[in-house]
Amino acid sequence: MIHKGKKLYEGKAKIIYEGPEKGTGVQHFKDDATAFNNLKKSQIEGKGVLNNRISEHILKNLNQIGIKNHLIKRINMREQLIKLVEIIPLEIIVRNIATGSLTKRLGIPDGTVLDHPLIEYCYKNDDLGDPLIAKEHILAFKWATLDELKKINDMTFRINDFMVGMFRGIGIKLVDFKLEFGRLQEGDKQEVILADEISPDTCRLWDVVSEKKLDKDRFRKDLGNLIEAYQEVANRLKIFPEQHNITEVKFNKPTSIKIKKK
Ligand code: 5GP
Repeated sequence: MIHKGKKLYEGKAKIIYEGPEKGTGVQHFKDDATAFNNLKKSQIEGKGVLNNRISEHILKNLNQIGIKNHLIKRINMREQLIKLVEIIPLEIIVRNIATGSLTKRLGIPDGTVLDHPLIEYCYKNDDLGDPLIAKEHILAFKWATLDELKKINDMTFRINDFMVGMFRGIGIKLVDFKLEFGRLQEGDKQEVILADEISPDTCRLWDVVSEKKLDKDRFRKDLGNLIEAYQEVANRLKIFPEQHNITEVKFNKPTSIKIKKK
């Protein structure tokens, strides 16, 4: 049993607690789903468990290709032990196919395949609705240094390359996703590492053949079957439940997932 300390931060989908040792934290995945800057809210049973497993899988794989990140290990169905970092207040968005806010903002036809991945920066601030910003804003307001930004961009393109390939291998198009980075202090050394989560909550994932959405757009657009879609992603990644047996996962029925304790 890993001892959790006091709550340090509560976000829309996660809570961060103090971890058992200095510099560590416990990241807890909630079942809450929110969209449109908290205007739409719901609880979706099983979402936190699936995001915990999917994010663990992706961050572990990224670590193996040399992308340093905050994950130490998953500790239970809903929680991960992490290295605490100072979060850089930026949402780094990567797009391979135009959809979502990009198409609304610029009138680009939905589904346009981009020749090269496009990086966009948003200022991470709920009160302002995470506005789109330019690199110049980041430097002017010292949200990150030029050196940090270069490292973030390099890591982001490598993460995208890896994830596009990983998802293509399981018949999924990685349309776009959001990353967050943080500063890790180790002695007098500071470095920027990947933080937060990578899951169907933070990515757009479309089935290669049917273009069925396997991500949080099912909630945003009221398409239903969110858990079934996330479970489908987990299944294709060959992530199977460890401590629990999923006994019933059906795609076309209203959201229902039955979890049986072993
Ligand atoms: P868009 O800007 O089109 O709404 O989102 C682009 C991508 O970034 C999508 O994959 C979306 O899930 C992700 N994204 C952008 N902002 C957020 C956010 O505040 N929270 C989450 N979970 N994902 C976000």
